[in-house]
Amino acid sequence: MALVYILIIRMNPAKLTYEELLQGFRELRFQLDEANDTIDAIRNGQVDAIIVKDESGHQLYTLKTADQTYRVFIEKMNEGAVTLNREGTVLYSNSRFAAMMHMPLEKVIGLKFETFVPEISANKFNDLINNGWNEDCKGEILLADKNGHLTPCLLSCTTLDLDEGLSLSLILTDLTTQKEAEWELKVKNDQLIEAQAETEKLNDELEDTVRERTKDLLISREHFKLLSDNIPQMSWTNLPGGEVDFYNQQWYNYTGLRFGDTAGWGWQHVIHPDDLPVTMEKYIHSLKTGNIFEAEYRYRRWDGNYRWHLSRAVPLKDDQGKIIFWVGTATDIEDQRQEMERKDEFIGVASHELKTPLTSLKGYIQLISTYNKEPVPPIVKQYIEKAAVAVNKLQRLVNDLLDVSKIQAGRLEYAMSEVNVAELVAVSLESARHMYHEYEFDNQATIGVKIMGNAERLEQVLMNFINNAVKYSQVNKKIIIKTEAHDGIMRLSVTDFGIGLSAEQIERIFERFYRVEDQKFMASGLGMGLYISTEIINNHDGKIGVESELGKGATFYFELPIAG
Ligand code: ADP
Repeated sequence: MALVYILIIRMNPAKLTYEELLQGFRELRFQLDEANDTIDAIRNGQVDAIIVKDESGHQLYTLKTADQTYRVFIEKMNEGAVTLNREGTVLYSNSRFAAMMHMPLEKVIGLKFETFVPEISANKFNDLINNGWNEDCKGEILLADKNGHLTPCLLSCTTLDLDEGLSLSLILTDLTTQKEAEWELKVKNDQLIEAQAETEKLNDELEDTVRERTKDLLISREHFKLLSDNIPQMSWTNLPGGEVDFYNQQWYNYTGLRFGDTAGWGWQHVIHPDDLPVTMEKYIHSLKTGNIFEAEYRYRRWDGNYRWHLSRAVPLKDDQGKIIFWVGTATDIEDQRQEMERKDEFIGVASHELKTPLTSLKGYIQLISTYNKEPVPPIVKQYIEKAAVAVNKLQRLVNDLLDVSKIQAGRLEYAMSEVNVAELVAVSLESARHMYHEYEFDNQATIGVKIMGNAERLEQVLMNFINNAVKYSQVNKKIIIKTEAHDGIMRLSVTDFGIGLSAEQIERIFERFYRVEDQKFMASGLGMGLYISTEIINNHDGKIGVESELGKGATFYFELPIAG
């Protein structure tokens, strides 16, 4: 084990010559090198005792637990390690502490430790040090390097019992990273608290809104219930899947049932079995498409009697157009249906009764018009012609009435055969030209197209189109009759350039007895022609329709499959 002396030479530089000074400097230089070597030796565990010479003679310093491993460990550890004597002078420092203070190690040793303690931590440091000589203690202080840069540190004090007396060992843990993390944590924490407060505020607002909405909902539910219970119709609401989740009071009064009996799909048992298939088909179709549900069917009353109802249900949609639920109403139309039936019955009987005298009247007029035994005055001939026209018109009306009642009774029957469309058009146009001299008929029918049908009934449809075209275009007197063929389908159309129809009117003109309100003054009629035509074309499995714009004329057409 090596033993090293440190000589401390006291010299008075003012009284020395240059050579002496140079000599002194060299000696000092030598001593410094020697001292550095010594420090390295101690640091690396090669020395475990030192003798220091000063004015009071030689002093031996030994490290009690001298052990190389221990010293190397101290040297390498991440904390600053310093030992102080009673005066607070640094006896030993590891490299880490010197690095923390941004000073060369050799400058640190021998300095008063308080040099590194800034004003702000002075009191706390003194307390810790004073306390540290008596017992182990620790506390946080700031250390300042030579540039005044502050480092937060945890200072742990413990006494070291050396041979030459007690010294104080300080372990300094750099808290910068920890403090930064702590600070960051605090910032995050503050942000979290802020966000939490914001969330709580939002939550409170939300709760308020929910409370308000619930109140509103309750009020509107009450309103809805009050309203629906006080209308004469039965009403319900059903979910997008079709299940009924609400009925108004009228429903229970009428059916005599309780909610559980008809909720969901239970209402099917209250519908007349004959009406159920068609009703279900329409209901399912509406659920699938979102189109308004409309159907006429019979509901069973509490006393077992069935009454006809007109039911309608409309979907209620959210902002995205998704159906939330459906609102339905059922109006009792039993009395109207009976009235209609009585009217139909009357029309049937009356037209039938009218037909016989009308036929004989027509026969007699024909007889009179062909009478040639004696000369008939021309004026009488004119009267007879006028009577014949009037009787023909009357016969057409009576026939239409009869047709309507036959349609109602499901008895509009006729035989089918091959029909040459161009011939059909030619026959109809001949009588049209005969009746309406002042109109120009443009025949654009293609020759050779054949279809399966009843020529007489199809002529009735075509004549209805032509009669209407004439009736509703009194200024522009051109009428086009055209056939077109595509994909095995023939379309026969009649185009006029008259008053035309609006979209709403188009929706209704094929209904029985429907006449456009503001056109009634233009021409006489009973609103039966298109209704009968529709029935005829439907019986032919064809399609009837119209394309029109108000004020720009109309094109009425029917389509049938081409034969062969
Ligand atoms: P009407 O005997 O009243 O003519 P229709 O059933 O033949 O009965 O026609 C129904 C209604 O359709 C008519 O009252 C009329 O308002 C309208 N209409 C029919 N054809 C035409 C047309 N070519 N132009 C304009 N409106 C028409």
